Amino acid sequence: FFACRKGAPREAKQRKKAEKAYGGDVTTIMLTSVPVAQFAKVLAPDAEKVGTLTEPRQFNLMFSTYIGATATEDDKAYMRPETAQGVFLHFKNVVDTSRVKVPFGIGNTGRSFRNEVTPRNFTFRSREFEQAELEFFCHPDESLAWYQFWRDFRMDWWKAIGLAGENLILREHDKDELSHYSQGTSDVEYRFPFTAPGFGELEGIAHRGNYDLTQHQKHSGAKLEYFDQERGDLLPNGSRRGERYLPHCIEPAAGLDRGALALICEGYTRDESRPSPEFLKLHPRIAPIKAAVFPLVNKDGMPEVAENLYNDLFAKFGRSGFIEMDAKQSIGKRYARMDEAGCPFCFTIDGETLTNQTVTVRDRDSGAQSRIALDAVAPFLLEKLA
Ligand code: ATP
Repeated sequence: FFACRKGAPREAKQRKKAEKAYGGDVTTIMLTSVPVAQFAKVLAPDAEKVGTLTEPRQFNLMFSTYIGATATEDDKAYMRPETAQGVFLHFKNVVDTSRVKVPFGIGNTGRSFRNEVTPRNFTFRSREFEQAELEFFCHPDESLAWYQFWRDFRMDWWKAIGLAGENLILREHDKDELSHYSQGTSDVEYRFPFTAPGFGELEGIAHRGNYDLTQHQKHSGAKLEYFDQERGDLLPNGSRRGERYLPHCIEPAAGLDRGALALICEGYTRDESRPSPEFLKLHPRIAPIKAAVFPLVNKDGMPEVAENLYNDLFAKFGRSGFIEMDAKQSIGKRYARMDEAGCPFCFTIDGETLTNQTVTVRDRDSGAQSRIALDAVAPFLLEKLA
């Protein structure tokens, strides 16, 4: 027998390997259909030889720990495998204290922990990772429209930071993939070099109905219904009777580590025709270094002009990223260093600057150089970072 996830990218390869080793006498089977007594005859998924498959074992994806000094079984706690539940816990606090009206969302980022069986592929599957999640609460009648809004909005967001093209897809889950409470789930997926030709999940956007608030309400005993003053029958005085309901929730849940990894994979570029062939083509919006300022030589009044420009750019753009200043080594080496770090623009102060108040702008992706006025540098950068 030979066991493999059907249609998995490695199925054909695995099958060939099994046929070679066992003289073509192999049968593909669903692992769940094989009795344990037959496991000795199975070539397990990704295994090298027959007979390595162990019996199914109970496995908990959550990490447990003990709180406090006594560390008895009563002190057992579980590390959160997602950040979302903290939001549901705070739903009532936020409604009661911040005067928000449905529809509204609560977002947060934070560490999540999962006891993954096979952590691999750099930060793609880690046991500790960073998530960014939004719980968007809305009226049940509007929930499908909001689900579609968030699905498209999140896809556009990934495109806007540089993941546009064939490597990015939005995959709507089939009905049989949906959780029992979900009316729709889509994944934003990216074709990483290690998943190609397949894709790996960057973010899931799920319509979760009112499942979570129902569970929190049930187990805490606290009423979590929202009173919507803008709904219900119209009263003679022109106001509304109001409607009490448990909001439905749309949840975009993204992996920040996976996002950063996708951006690096997408941006990594080799061009053998360049003096330094490697560079990181990050979209200026997400490049950690926004610009670099270089005096061509570290004398003749150039460092002073460069420093003034650096201070000006730092004051204007320092909150969105780094502005670097570098006066050491040849100008070619300085450009190459910035190319590798993904810095989109370098501004060089040279002899001409001192006579006509212009600087050289060098573009990371094309390597092209052009001249612009010294006082046009900040507006130029503002436009490029928008
Ligand atoms: P997968 O199917 O890849 O295990 P998942 O469906 O379990 O992911 P979710 O529970 O929807 O993932 O979590 C939301 C996001 O968190 C995912 O889209 C992914 O970007 C990220 N994520 C999940 N598990 C990990 C992990 N082990 N390492 C890094 N990021 C992760």
